[in-house]
Amino acid sequence: MVNNIYCIGRNYTEHAQELGNNVEAQPVVFSKPTISLITDNLITLPKFSSDVHFETEIVIKISKPGFEIPEDHAADHYDSVAVGLDLTARDLQTELKNKKLPWLLAKGFKGSCYISDFYPKQHFPADISFGLELNGKLVQDGNTNAMIFTVPKLIAFISQYIPLQQDDVIFTGTPKGVGQLHEGDKLTLLLEGERLTELLVQHSPK
Ligand code: MG
Repeated sequence: MVNNIYCIGRNYTEHAQELGNNVEAQPVVFSKPTISLITDNLITLPKFSSDVHFETEIVIKISKPGFEIPEDHAADHYDSVAVGLDLTARDLQTELKNKKLPWLLAKGFKGSCYISDFYPKQHFPADISFGLELNGKLVQDGNTNAMIFTVPKLIAFISQYIPLQQDDVIFTGTPKGVGQLHEGDKLTLLLEGERLTELLVQHSPK
């Protein structure tokens, strides 16, 4: 079960640079509606966009609610880790960014969010490797040690503004290598070298 879905933008320097964005002094936070979650292994490209990008990210799940959580207590507030896809209608996002408008429709559309099974965080080393194979080729190869803002910093930051609830999830940002999806693409999510789910891309039915 997933409650609120929070996402962090520009948390890896090389990814911020590949999109021509600045690295901000504070985390960039946005959210996706829960209904955006993909519940099977099928990515359906929306009709309104011709440039949907994959962004592969470590996702953490909040296990204990909290408001104004101090950074040094933040680790007590999450217990599990997954890999997710923050699918983005880049053409629409660019249009909205240029108009200085919110990204919601470019980030929160139906089927814009995928989260693998969650695994207990104690199964992982301090630095977690993750990535994405697109049609059998490694296109994103990330490690949480390259995050600008660590998971405890993100929990502390978001909870200064919004109380975190049990089963809220946080997408922690994507490393470099994002790119466009096409009908027929096969995506395999990687976590600590292990292949998780495979997803298939299709067009919206006419
Ligand atoms: Mg993202």
